[in-house]
Amino acid sequence: MTESLTILGSTGSIGTSTLDVVARHPDRYRVHALTGHTRIAELAEQCRAFRPARAVVATASDAASLERMLGSGHPVAIDHGPEALCGVAREADVVMAAIVGAAGLPAAMAAASAGRRVLLANKEALVMAGALFMDAIDANGATLLPIDSEHNAIFQCLPAAIGASRSPVAADRRVSRILLTASGGPFRTMAVERMDEVTPEAACAHPNWSMGRKISVDSATMMNKGLEVIEARWLFGVESDRIEVVIHPQSVIHSMVEYVDGSVLAQMGNPDMRTPIAHALAYPERIASGVRPLDLAAIGRLDFERPDLARFPCLGLAYHALRVGGSAPAVLNAANEIAVGAFLEGRIRFTGIASIVSDVLDAIDAPAAHRLEDVLAIDTQARARAVDVLRAQVARPRRVAVR
Ligand code: NAD
Ligand code: MG
Repeated sequence: MTESLTILGSTGSIGTSTLDVVARHPDRYRVHALTGHTRIAELAEQCRAFRPARAVVATASDAASLERMLGSGHPVAIDHGPEALCGVAREADVVMAAIVGAAGLPAAMAAASAGRRVLLANKEALVMAGALFMDAIDANGATLLPIDSEHNAIFQCLPAAIGASRSPVAADRRVSRILLTASGGPFRTMAVERMDEVTPEAACAHPNWSMGRKISVDSATMMNKGLEVIEARWLFGVESDRIEVVIHPQSVIHSMVEYVDGSVLAQMGNPDMRTPIAHALAYPERIASGVRPLDLAAIGRLDFERPDLARFPCLGLAYHALRVGGSAPAVLNAANEIAVGAFLEGRIRFTGIASIVSDVLDAIDAPAAHRLEDVLAIDTQARARAVDVLRAQVARPRRVAVR
């Protein structure tokens, strides 16, 4: 049976990897909709290759550009704006949620509310609205499969009954801990004093993974791992004191599950997102992904270390936000998006990212949100505060204390 597929954010790193896997299995998947925010020429190329029924871009003028690029007689219905994104998220059997940041939340939520099979790469959606998102999945009979390599690994290592039904790990007597691996990013061994001088180009040059710029910077600050701790908390129903981060520079073990008898199950593979994408697309079956086989002898050794919270204060800030609860993770995420954007534009130093997030977390007391609109309002409030803090810190940079 052919399944219809919407890819939200098809022009990004996850989006193009998804199309790479899909192209290997034309008998299984029919592309229903593709969406892109910039790179309209790439989106046009994807539309020519995969002939979706619909494409969504950001603005009317982008829509006109895409229309022009595709020329006359093409079969694609082109639309624009956030509501159109939600529309295509509701329509397909399978929805790959691969928009980066808070911008992806409404469409991911629309897919969940429509009872779709949701392949979630957009971790920020769960960080911002974890309880609401999981409720929407449960209440509408949707299926949620994690794309983030660590969470996909954990899903594969959990007892099948937990993974598939998503009954919480917290209530399970067999599992003791989740061990989330982290590469440590490009600055794992850099002297802390030199981190002030880090450039956006250096921060985006990840040693093991090729990714979009925002998640690359998040990996360099280890905020990415912090967001992933929060993501794991909601995906697997496990409290933060049972989620441990382990630095593993080779990125061969993608994460582990520890059982009460001392067994630790790990999922391994080359660091290539096509593996978790193929896993989630085909689950519970398995399909080829194009990823080359793992050559352990060539890798030679696997190393592990504890994370250094003085070097990576963002990781501590994420645990702090999770402990505070309510909408603190949404505040953390919003402040981080503003700070990372400012760093990529060359307006603040690398170390300024953590101090902006820390100040915004301290400034905003955000209660739990019970509706999507409330989450989006907190996001807006935290962004406004982050812009104020950013202006002040451009004038007076400082380093953040460990939490
Ligand atoms: P990317 O920057 O390469 O791509 C982002 C996609 O989102 C693009 O298609 C872009 O056009 C679209 N987009 C950006 N802003 C938008 C907006 N305001 N409205 C609508 N669409 C918008 O990012 P990526 O690396 O593919 O990451 C996507 C998501 O997947 C992120 O949440 C990231 O954390 C997660 N993720 C990525 C990887 C990876 O290897 N790249 C791994 C794990 C998780
Ligand atoms: Mg990850």
